[in-house]
Amino acid sequence: MSDSPSTTQPDEELLSEARAVADNAYAPYSGFHVGAALRTRTGKVYTGANVENASYPLGVCAERTVLSCAASDGVRPGDIEAVAITASPCGGCRQWLLEFGVARVVFAHAGGVQIRSADELLPHSFILDT
Ligand SMILES: [Zn+2]
Repeated sequence: MSDSPSTTQPDEELLSEARAVADNAYAPYSGFHVGAALRTRTGKVYTGANVENASYPLGVCAERTVLSCAASDGVRPGDIEAVAITASPCGGCRQWLLEFGVARVVFAHAGGVQIRSADELLPHSFILDT
């Protein structure tokens, strides 16, 4: 069913990292564990999992966890080669992926793997014109 480009070995490795870190998700309310792995253009890899909270809206998705971790280490828009996720990113995370200019978003979906650019995942997106 996929009309996206096929995965590469680096994509598979990144998705494996995402699957591994999903075990560390803090998801006592939903039980839905999500992992994300990010690779910079210099080859550095970051991982993150979803972190829920008793006040549900305060929970953080795996994508935003890993992007926050990377940004805290100095990674900036344009520095990211790919992000792999164990689930399809939600709308809010698509906005985050777009902000960081992620060209290659690899995610598990409907029993397969999809690869899209952040632009494809969020067409006609909000951009702050300053
Ligand atoms: Zn999300």
